[in-house]
Amino acid sequence: MRCVVTGGAGFVGSHLCERLLADGHEVVAIDNLITGSVANIAHLRDPRFDFFHHDVSKFIYLAGAVDFVFHLASPASPVDYLEYPIQTLKVGSLGTHNALGLAKEKGCGLLFASTSEVYGDPLVNPQPETYHGNVSTTGLRGCYDEAKRFGEALVMAYQRQHGIPTRIIRIFNTYGPRMRLRDGRVVPNFICQAVNGEDLTIYGDGQQTRSFCYVDDTVDGMVRLAWSQEALPVNIGNPDERTIRQFAEDILRLTGSRSQIVYQPMPTDNDPQQRRPDITKARTLLGWEPRVPFEEGMVRTIDDMRRRLRDEAAAGKGLS
Ligand code: NAD
Ligand code: UDP
Repeated sequence: MRCVVTGGAGFVGSHLCERLLADGHEVVAIDNLITGSVANIAHLRDPRFDFFHHDVSKFIYLAGAVDFVFHLASPASPVDYLEYPIQTLKVGSLGTHNALGLAKEKGCGLLFASTSEVYGDPLVNPQPETYHGNVSTTGLRGCYDEAKRFGEALVMAYQRQHGIPTRIIRIFNTYGPRMRLRDGRVVPNFICQAVNGEDLTIYGDGQQTRSFCYVDDTVDGMVRLAWSQEALPVNIGNPDERTIRQFAEDILRLTGSRSQIVYQPMPTDNDPQQRRPDITKARTLLGWEPRVPFEEGMVRTIDDMRRRLRDEAAAGKGLS
């Protein structure tokens, strides 16, 4: 199959491109590099892989047949979408419209990368797909949350009005190699701080929870959902929930760091207090569940980030 991956030069997108190539497909990655990098796809030297530098909030023209569109383009880290709130709203709305238009033109299916943020600061834990969420339209996170909520509604409209086979994956916090070192998310922040001997910055009291899923597991869930018949949203994430304080201690232990933990004010409002996916639907419908245990995934991620930090330091000193 010839698959399009919007956001293909990003963290999750680059892993998806790798997986699709490994499964024998042709891949066209489309990305404007606003938060991604060609470094993420530089290793994909394969005649079946193409890269198209383009902003999908503008009309997408692509020659030739397309068999499936994976629409992942969007800033995803709170630091990124706070820096680019308008671009985030545009890619969730206009970008999703264009991606759906491409799928309609090519007569193929589309998977939309949605997020656990559609649940906002949830009042039920864990969150099943049937929960409608608790989102502030005017809060700082609103640009991302509402863009994804609108994206989901648009996808459902295309499915109902035009009969496009669409899939919606609600991704929960995903981590792994190739996350940008300074994207501001808690995983790269704590690992870089621990490795560099800097203080680990907990925002708020550290009692808020997150559930971290290794990227290979997320991508596997995405591929299974794409090839399934499920037309309604499916949560993909790891139910292994922990507080941010516990996570800071885990990172200190796994890196062997002697850094201190410090507390800072929350940089955004509406920071979800708890987040844990209910994955009953993914288990039942897709036979999917996360396979990579927390420590194994974190050690792989720490090794990758240590190496990149060393390379950066060496480049800074003119050594490479
Ligand atoms: P990322 O920032 O690494 O990747 C996003 C990619 O989209 C980047 O390469 C960026 O340059 C590209 N992009 C953004 N706007 C674009 C535009 N207008 N046109 C073309 N390309 C554009 O983020 P990620 O973590 O890889 O997230 C990928 C997708 O998964 C996003 O849609 C995100 O909302 C979703 N998601 C991720 C997580 C997570 O924990 N990583 C959780 C929930 C949802
Ligand atoms: N966080 C933190 N210190 C940091 C970065 C993030 O305490 O240096 C907290 C953040 O406030 C949130 C959680 O860690 O409660 C996860 O943040 P992240 O930015 O990774 O993503 P989110 O799940 O909020 O989208």
